[in-house]
Amino acid sequence: MLTPSKAIELVLEAARKGRAVERPLEEACFLVTAEDVIAEQAYPYFSYSSMDGYAVHSEDLDGASTDNPVTLPLAGEIRAATGKRPVLPRGQAIRIMTGGPIPEGSDAVVQQEDVDEKADSVIFYGPVAKGNFINREGEEIARGDILWPAGKALNPAAIGLIATFGVSSIAVYPAPSVFILTTGDELIAPGEPRGYGEIYDSVTPMLASALRWAGFDRISSRRCKDDRGLLHDALSLALAESDIVVSVGGVSMGEYDFVRDVAERAGVEKIFWKVSQKPGKPLYFGKKGDTLLFGLPGNPAAALACLQLYVLPAARRIMGYSSPGPEWLNGVIAEAMENRTDRTNFLRVVARKDAHGGYLLERAGGQSSYMLSSFSRANALAQLPPGPVRIDAGEKVQFAPLFWDVE
Ligand code: AMP
Ligand code: MG
Repeated sequence: MLTPSKAIELVLEAARKGRAVERPLEEACFLVTAEDVIAEQAYPYFSYSSMDGYAVHSEDLDGASTDNPVTLPLAGEIRAATGKRPVLPRGQAIRIMTGGPIPEGSDAVVQQEDVDEKADSVIFYGPVAKGNFINREGEEIARGDILWPAGKALNPAAIGLIATFGVSSIAVYPAPSVFILTTGDELIAPGEPRGYGEIYDSVTPMLASALRWAGFDRISSRRCKDDRGLLHDALSLALAESDIVVSVGGVSMGEYDFVRDVAERAGVEKIFWKVSQKPGKPLYFGKKGDTLLFGLPGNPAAALACLQLYVLPAARRIMGYSSPGPEWLNGVIAEAMENRTDRTNFLRVVARKDAHGGYLLERAGGQSSYMLSSFSRANALAQLPPGPVRIDAGEKVQFAPLFWDVE
């Protein structure tokens, strides 16, 4: 059986970067740029005041002090948006607002709090350094500088930086659309009365939420009975209209586990079935054209672990992320942990920073594949090697932080 790391490798190999599209800048946050974004001009575009105060010729205040103040006549006022560059005559001061262009001749701004203003003059009680409270033209960015490199996900500050230059759209790799197709005769929707043996579908809202949290906003979902015909139709449609299809349930060895069979009839080419892991052993992965199909087992904790470990990295690779995860870190276990299976065991754990900057890992609770209470308290998945093996308190194991751990 495939090891999890080999399975992740196969997934990332199959997940190809999508085609770049032009997007409104405001909708591009979190997406990866397809080209370098270049500054078309220098920034600041013009020198301007960073304070409310008075623009002066600094030399006019040489020698000023509390005992020996200097009074300059007031030449007028500069607001933030002046049509053209004002001029400051020698020996005068001019009132200037934050954002106001520094007038020709001025080389410093004295803040309002440090002066006294009379009807048509200003009294200064000290000298001022050249450049004081001036954001100087071109001091931050030169024309032709790379504002943001190709291949890097845009963060909100980057959006602001690029917007500074009047850019309204940008070439990025779009996030994939995802279709969640849940299977099972026993599943009912919230609000429906529950008959004996039926259960509410918890996996659809959970996976949709995880995807949304990770930044994906084109998510569709549908619930389907364990019926070959219905499943075939639903799956064919999902494969046709989405970049990633995540089916839930029906990939094990049971009588009614139709997903693999139906998928292959619908034209999906199998890449693997079964991974040597717990939970999530029956994970199925295939491809039709550029659309990826992940057949997740229906047990809720297994489904969520597989989403975290396989689906999200694939989605990020499609978006052009160079390190799409999962990211494995080293931690130390706080209590002995045992893996009785011969598969890699992913445990829901709470990872806490210890005094030395390392991580201490504790079990988050029951580890059965159906249990979500532990998952809801966990902030990481720890990885125990195939067993049977017992790992003692204080020993090292690898763990992957859950992406929604934001406490
Ligand atoms: P399956 O993978 O279809 O064999 O399902 C494994 C277990 O997960 C069964 O106990 C199912 O009832 C349960 N299950 C499957 N799908 C869901 C779902 N969408 N929500 C909650 N439980 C589910
Ligand atoms: Mg089922």
